[in-house]
Amino acid sequence: MSARRAAGRLSIAPSLAPRDIAAPKPQARAWQARVITLFPEAFPGVLGHSLTGRALAEGLWGLEAIDLRPFGIGKHRNVDDTPAGGGAGMVLRADVLGRAITVAQRGAADWPLVCLSPRGRPFAQSLARDWATGPGVVMICGRFEGVDQRVIDHFGIAEVSLGDFVLTGGEIAAQAMIDATVRLLPDVIGNADSLAEESFSQGLLEHPHYTRPAEWEGHSIPSVLMSGNHAEIARWRQAQAEMLTRRRRPDLWAAWQDADAPE
Ligand code: SAH
Repeated sequence: MSARRAAGRLSIAPSLAPRDIAAPKPQARAWQARVITLFPEAFPGVLGHSLTGRALAEGLWGLEAIDLRPFGIGKHRNVDDTPAGGGAGMVLRADVLGRAITVAQRGAADWPLVCLSPRGRPFAQSLARDWATGPGVVMICGRFEGVDQRVIDHFGIAEVSLGDFVLTGGEIAAQAMIDATVRLLPDVIGNADSLAEESFSQGLLEHPHYTRPAEWEGHSIPSVLMSGNHAEIARWRQAQAEMLTRRRRPDLWAAWQDADAPE
């Protein structure tokens, strides 16, 4: 019985499926997400579908959900306890999490080590881009009131937030961040142009989209898009993107203008 199994590692990394000889080879060491969670069965969840799901099955990236429960204390494998100083709720124990992190970091000591937390740095496309260029990421999903601060300090864990709201646990946040990262990996999205054009890639929100039917409930498609004039279309889209960003996201608009301003 290996220590790995005894430590409760639940591996759901896909084996490499037989591939069409003509298809691109999977990377020698595909990008990997290791997620410490009390709910390993929640993974891959939505990541198992569509483009991310296909890429997972093809070995373009890997996922390991590491069950926190077997690292718990005593017969009942307790993972949490009451907050020091009193107050509501429960806190994930430092000793339990510490053991799980040590296992999760095997062969991954230099990967970003992240705890999902509403107190963290707001997640953004730039962080997804950073992560996508590395070997992978180790994530800790909190539950209850969160995790013992000492574990964060001891391991130098980076706290990252999905946004200014409180979720019940880190699993949904982890899946959102993994999704945003995985779709930037080579070959996950067939059409690289769609990555280059979408929101945030140029620092602007994306222009609106339309498709058939040409007329719907009395609404028609903006005529420039039907003109076949590609230069005009590109200009219109750029103007729309700028207008949307200026109106909806003054913060992004200011940053974009600064970046564009001549020195
Ligand atoms: N008491 C904490 C909230 C705990 S919510 C506080 O007030 O800050 C329980 C767990 O859900 C957290 O430990 C975290 O892992 C996860 N979580 C909740 N909201 C989140 C968010 N906005 N982003 C990322 N993770 C979140």
